[in-house]
Amino acid sequence: MSEKVRVRFAPSPTGPLHIGGLRTALFNYLFAKKHGGDFLLRIEDTDQNRYVPGAEDYIINALNWCGIPFDEGPGKEGSVGPYRQSERKALYRDYALKLINKGWAYYAFDSAETLEHHRKEHEAEGKTFIYNWHNRLKLTNSLSLSEDEVSARLKAGEDYVIRFKSPKDETLVLNDIIRGEIKIDTNILDDKVLFKSDGMPTYHLANIVDDHLMQITHVIRGEEWLPSLALHQLLYTAFDWQAPQFAHLPLIMKPVGKGKLSKRDGEKGGFPVFPLSWNESVGYKEAGFFPEAVVNFLALLGWNPGTEQEIFTLEELIHSFSLERVNKSGARFDPDKNNWYNQQWLQRKSDGELARSFQQLLKEKGVTCEASRIEKVVGLIKERATFVADFWDLGSYFFVTPTNWDDKSVKKQWKEDTPKILEKVAALLENLSDFQSEIIETQVKEWIADQELSFGKVMPPLRLVIVGEMKGPHLSDILEFIGKEESVKRIHNAIAALPN
Ligand code: GLU
Repeated sequence: MSEKVRVRFAPSPTGPLHIGGLRTALFNYLFAKKHGGDFLLRIEDTDQNRYVPGAEDYIINALNWCGIPFDEGPGKEGSVGPYRQSERKALYRDYALKLINKGWAYYAFDSAETLEHHRKEHEAEGKTFIYNWHNRLKLTNSLSLSEDEVSARLKAGEDYVIRFKSPKDETLVLNDIIRGEIKIDTNILDDKVLFKSDGMPTYHLANIVDDHLMQITHVIRGEEWLPSLALHQLLYTAFDWQAPQFAHLPLIMKPVGKGKLSKRDGEKGGFPVFPLSWNESVGYKEAGFFPEAVVNFLALLGWNPGTEQEIFTLEELIHSFSLERVNKSGARFDPDKNNWYNQQWLQRKSDGELARSFQQLLKEKGVTCEASRIEKVVGLIKERATFVADFWDLGSYFFVTPTNWDDKSVKKQWKEDTPKILEKVAALLENLSDFQSEIIETQVKEWIADQELSFGKVMPPLRLVIVGEMKGPHLSDILEFIGKEESVKRIHNAIAALPN
């Protein structure tokens, strides 16, 4: 690519960023970084009715959390700012007028009520009302009215919109990097509104003008914008501007059934669909996902590397990414697979880093413990964890003396002679001068052999009294960690509480 790649993520701040929007941002980021280009954030806030306070900050925080910050955008001014369309409002009118002068657009004065009336009439006949070549001369606009009439209406301050004049009888050949060639008959296009007399451009005009002024080379966005591509291509032609290349990403589909993944799917299935929490919806971050895992699973939603590799760092994604490997068809969202990615990423984290997060959780549970000891526990249990929060379930007994013992296991393991055997084990442990895992293990094993006991008579009940249930890593590792005194105490506690 000879010219510098410049891409943009252009969300409307109408609410939190859905996971699909985050993926669009990620693909833009990967593409930009792969080609040594720039990744811009542009806030498309021309529709003030849909503006939601806090949404812009949310979007920026989400990108930062994922480690995919923008190079230019609000607060990171480059040479083509400002990056909020509401702050660019003054520049769009001239472009709309330019199109009128070139014969590509016209003023339309039809009132909302008149248009609604036409719509209803068509509906009653089972038809759809389209404002375009076939009826525009019968409607109230600068193509059907005299020049004087138009000037008079404008002078009187009458409300108007500026509509695009879609050409008749043409076949547009559009190109999409992912979908290839798409042919569109211009006769089906309607004359979209580009500008309103309140001075606000619509999405279509602002989007094209800004992509041009911001020197965007590639527009990478969701499939839902594919129907706008014909109009956008025509706008570039109308302005005599070189169009960027387009790539429309496949939808993210529900885990089961048909259709696009929605917030409701997350609520029903108990999984997040937002990167960060928003009101009562829990985000990936707050649910305990690592940003690396989220980036990893999002990248593989709709893109495939062409190999069996599944775990990718951001650097590796940048290296491997290409738009040509993005699928055309929708990508099914799989919450279990997302968890798997988190589990994989957790295994790759250092015990020290995990211990720091676990320490927070321990604090909330009222447990204080030295960092190095927490790290040791993490090393022993992390293999089975998907989230840091799992550490508590997997290993609370390292920190807290069990006060009850799993009923089922008690029924199975607690025999008549168990208390007597465990008494002896307690005495044995008490006599060990070096309370180290390997030493504990050999000594206990030797003792079992000496006593001509079976392993099953000693080890499972011992685990039960130490842990409270039949789980956990190597028992002698647990004993070493909790120490001699605590080990003996736990044996005695259980003997006192369980049937003799
Ligand atoms: N503002 C549009 C959106 O909310 C941008 C679409 C585009 O990328 O052109 O998704």
